[in-house]
Amino acid sequence: MRVDVVTIFPAYFDALDVSLLGKARERGLLVVVVHDLRDFTHDRHRTVDDTPYGGGAGMVMRPEPWGEALDHVLATGPDGPGPVESPRLVVPSPAGRPFTQALAEELAAEPWLVLACGRYEGIDQRVVDEARDRMRVDEVSLGDYVLNGGEVAALAIVEAVGRLVPGVVGNSGSLADESHVAGLLEAPSFTKPPVWREWPVPDVLVSGNHGAIARWRRDASLRRTARVRPDLVERLDPAACDAADLVQLAALGWLPTPGAHPAGFTYDPTAVAD
Ligand code: SAM
Repeated sequence: MRVDVVTIFPAYFDALDVSLLGKARERGLLVVVVHDLRDFTHDRHRTVDDTPYGGGAGMVMRPEPWGEALDHVLATGPDGPGPVESPRLVVPSPAGRPFTQALAEELAAEPWLVLACGRYEGIDQRVVDEARDRMRVDEVSLGDYVLNGGEVAALAIVEAVGRLVPGVVGNSGSLADESHVAGLLEAPSFTKPPVWREWPVPDVLVSGNHGAIARWRRDASLRRTARVRPDLVERLDPAACDAADLVQLAALGWLPTPGAHPAGFTYDPTAVAD
């Protein structure tokens, strides 16, 4: 996969030299090219921002350097200069659609992504609207809070997407059981020693009984999800739950919602087991 990043702070992306993504880059599984937006300005001060039309606090990123930067990225292409298929543009924004594991999986199937990192009050909206004429564009939010710039969001997106590129994570099995993959949070994990500061690991995990361990993990995952993210339980598909799941969920107060489309669960406090 090729990822182009446009930013006024290229140094943020030095972090992609280390750990699993650094190794993936060395092995050519992931090609990351970082562009300095200021290289596409033409004044002595390399200006990228200006005051907002309509007034208000803060500055807005001007469209001209962004337009030139995206023209440059598109002309370069994933395989060098020449006509190529257009990339998918991801614009981090607190006003974007939520970034989820499902979207990370969708983006991981793309051969070429471009990330546009805003600063100040954001990028002149015409940049995003004009880009939609020539490529697929997603404005994507990392969460319901405001960062100073798109760089941290872009790093999170590159990491979440990059680790799904085949070969980047050595043991692909570890990707299958993770939180959010099947709409649940993962069960808690434990390692050696078996007792630490008088805290033992759950007996079942050292029992060697693989069936019992799988059931314990599934129940712990359901309990954790119900406690921390009831919104996820509401959206679980009862058809994807086995009989033991339904018993565990019922004990936590969650019953399949009768006749709901799409199917889901509803909390009923009277169903909670003592
Ligand atoms: N004025 C904007 C608003 O209220 O929607 C916030 C601008 S923010 C200070 C500057 C930049 O940080 C944004 O253009 C975006 O690139 C990035 N950013 C801030 N919060 C973000 C979030 N939750 N998710 C993704 N990007 C974010």
